[in-house]
Amino acid sequence: MDAAFGPGLYYKHSGKFFAGGVLVALFIGLLVGLPCAWLYAWLIHWNPFIYIDALASFGFGAMIGVATESSLESHKCRNLPIAGLTALLVVLIAYYVSWAVWLHALLHLPTIPLLLHPAEMWQTILEVNKVGAWTLRGSVVNGIPLWIAWGVEAVFILGSAVFTAVQAMQQATFCEGCDLFAKSTTGICFAGAGQAPPPAEKAAFKSYQKDLKQHAAELKQHLENKDFSYAEQLGAVQPDSIAWYRFDLVSCPQCSMTNSLRVLLVQNKIEGKKVKQETTETEVLRQLLLSSTEADSLRKLGEKLVPMLPKLAEQRAARAQKAAAAAKS
Ligand SMILES: [Zn+2]
Repeated sequence: MDAAFGPGLYYKHSGKFFAGGVLVALFIGLLVGLPCAWLYAWLIHWNPFIYIDALASFGFGAMIGVATESSLESHKCRNLPIAGLTALLVVLIAYYVSWAVWLHALLHLPTIPLLLHPAEMWQTILEVNKVGAWTLRGSVVNGIPLWIAWGVEAVFILGSAVFTAVQAMQQATFCEGCDLFAKSTTGICFAGAGQAPPPAEKAAFKSYQKDLKQHAAELKQHLENKDFSYAEQLGAVQPDSIAWYRFDLVSCPQCSMTNSLRVLLVQNKIEGKKVKQETTETEVLRQLLLSSTEADSLRKLGEKLVPMLPKLAEQRAARAQKAAAAAKS
């Protein structure tokens, strides 16, 4: 189907948003972001571990991204650039504030005058850069290496805010008919991704891992053709599986006409010969539009392909219980 003439295979946001909603999102973003800026600045001032600092910078940005985007969604904004720009504006302000708080922590300068005089704040930053603010393996980090560290930190903070907001907006589906966001059900169906040889058989295992990419591409093609029998034939996830597909269905709770599908390839992390409990997720497709009949067949398929991997079976049971409780009330 040509996207210019029909709705297309994949869902796309209409781009609608309301200025009032954006203003509220900016406000909510700052309400979350400013305390985060304060916390972050003191944390990096006191904490000597660079990994924790890196994690904190990512978390600082992500909190802002999540807060801004969820506020935008609650005001029915369905626009990617707006989600990204709103998060960017909030995180720029919060980042600026975190600098003032940090300089206050480091040099005991009053925070408010720093905030009100950006030029003076900049001069202070230049001086701190000259003398350095911390040491790495016994030597003071200053000058260009310190600029690089600060640059990486800025990219982490700003990047994670924008990325988180855009990512969440990208995964949302809006039902224009009912004027509301559709609801996502994680793991409506699980399907196997072939039989993996034991990781000890290195060559065979490597080729299995390599083939997974092709395997996922084939599944994508069949799903785009709405061929669910292909997914059915992949079978249930076996008890010793180390890779499988997870289907998430986003459905309008009112009309059930607007449905979109997201499919992930989930893989256990491997360390040497050991299969770890942690998993990684690779997106196979997202926002594939499904009719209500197609969404129903996917639900039925999910009931049929009962995963034999204990942790998936548990997830599935918990979801069924929740749905039953929701249906009762
Ligand atoms: Zn609807």
